[in-house]
Amino acid sequence: MNQTSYHLNPTSPERLGQSPSVKAKLRCDRWALLACVLLTQFLGCGVLRPAPIVRQRNNLPPNLIADGEPMIERGQKRPIIDAFGWVWGIPSKILLWNRHVESHSISQNTELLIQDYLIENDLTEVKVRLNQYRPLDDWRRLTRNKSVAWPWRYTFGAVATLGETVIPGRLFGGDHYNPYTATIHLYSDVPAIAYHEGAHAKDFSNREYPGTYAALYMIPVVPLWHERTATNDVLAYVRDSNNPALQREAAHVLYPAYGTYVGNAAGTLLPTASTPLYLASVIAGHVAARREIP
Ligand SMILES: [Zn+2]
Repeated sequence: MNQTSYHLNPTSPERLGQSPSVKAKLRCDRWALLACVLLTQFLGCGVLRPAPIVRQRNNLPPNLIADGEPMIERGQKRPIIDAFGWVWGIPSKILLWNRHVESHSISQNTELLIQDYLIENDLTEVKVRLNQYRPLDDWRRLTRNKSVAWPWRYTFGAVATLGETVIPGRLFGGDHYNPYTATIHLYSDVPAIAYHEGAHAKDFSNREYPGTYAALYMIPVVPLWHERTATNDVLAYVRDSNNPALQREAAHVLYPAYGTYVGNAAGTLLPTASTPLYLASVIAGHVAARREIP
């Protein structure tokens, strides 16, 4: 998982690929079981709960999107590339148990919903790329996004944007918000994921020092804060939407997605048990979500 931007999609192949010895495996299984029980309680006990981000400022510069330029753009259909992306995204589909994850085909409905969210939250300078690869435009936005101080933009921001350039999400997926370019990149057709990335945009635009806030994300365990803030904002937004289906989907996708971050954090603290802890955290997310909204 790329730590320089704000991903929702969970696959952590380097972790899933680790194979501990049989003895360690047995130990890990016990760890995983314990972690699963504890995390289900933890996730069900108010860590994730509807809590809107309270708006104090909007630091995004005006005219980050030029007059006449669309806020939301869509990549052209490329059947072979998109089929590759769909197959590459199978582990993410399984982990989040949703076939629309990494579908590389985003419906009009999801587009309208994220548009509404951004307009309602006064985030009209945020760019949304729906399954689109436009690195040159992203580099241009990096130079123009003065909300992030230039020392952050031309170091961490350049690395994040270089990552998007050389490892295109169009192929490898990974819905995320890049705070240095103020751009949402979506490859999944799941409104809750789109909202989650929108909530990251809202959170960053609300910070006095968004560059520092972005850099803090690089420190292990700290992303739990960013991810919780964004997810809780979405849970509040869908609760207020009075749309039970949307509410249910948000819990069912965002709880296990949060579980991936809990798993990564736990794996950093206990590297020998990282794979079972990761999987246990995701399962705990699924259990907690279904317990809350069956
Ligand atoms: Zn996120």
